[in-house]
Amino acid sequence: MRSVRVLGCRVDAIDVSGAVARIVALARGSEPSLVVTLGTEMVVRARTDARFREVVNRSALSLCDTIGVLFAARLWGARIPERVAGIELIDPLCAAFAREGISIYLLGAKGDTAERAARTLRERYPTLVIAGARDGYFAPADDESVADAIARTGAQVALLGLGSPRQECWIDAHLLRAGCAVGIGIGGSFDVLAGNVERAPEAWQRANLEWLYRLLKEPQRWRRQLALPYFVLLTLRERLFARPTLEES
Ligand code: UDP
Repeated sequence: MRSVRVLGCRVDAIDVSGAVARIVALARGSEPSLVVTLGTEMVVRARTDARFREVVNRSALSLCDTIGVLFAARLWGARIPERVAGIELIDPLCAAFAREGISIYLLGAKGDTAERAARTLRERYPTLVIAGARDGYFAPADDESVADAIARTGAQVALLGLGSPRQECWIDAHLLRAGCAVGIGIGGSFDVLAGNVERAPEAWQRANLEWLYRLLKEPQRWRRQLALPYFVLLTLRERLFARPTLEES
């Protein structure tokens, strides 16, 4: 698999079906593996947060979650055919897990959102084994007891929607204790599955304007979204003044 570095973060050149096949293989392995869905804000954060950058770069899979990261990865010569956003990965992934008998645990979001997301997935994939679900509002002091509770369910894959960088750092620190082979950071996807948040209409998605739709719907996000123009500036600067680094693994 080919990878490129975008502002110091590894991005793997893989499409949705390749990512699903790799995650299924990782779920059968014995090493705990982190799967990152790398967004623009995450790359900007990683520039100044060395621990987070390390976690991203030693992940088993670093997928291109946003159009910004896709654009930058292509500038660096990666042939990535499409975005592999968390929300778009969930359906093909759950279809594969249902087929292969791989069980999952849903951790994240407010109140009963994860349970409602589980219900949606059960309706779509009746043979999918959902070993458990819980909300993502717990204190760091409870990290280990949450991991132990996941371990008791015997889930093989944990989907984490705690927001970034918490979800990636949590997987890095606690996946072994949780007894899962794979942990995937999926951001706000449970909110979409549970119907709390609407995705942009298809036309907006096709025009790569999902970020704008989200900004209009949730104007309080404007400060976070400043990461996007900043990311574009940094990427163009890096592309003009540095040499591309393609990696093979
Ligand atoms: N969240 C959580 N625990 C926290 C903070 C956030 O479970 O302590 C959840 C939040 O409810 C939301 C998700 O994490 O469901 C991430 O939301 P955000 O919009 O930040 O994610 P994005 O999709 O932008 O990464």
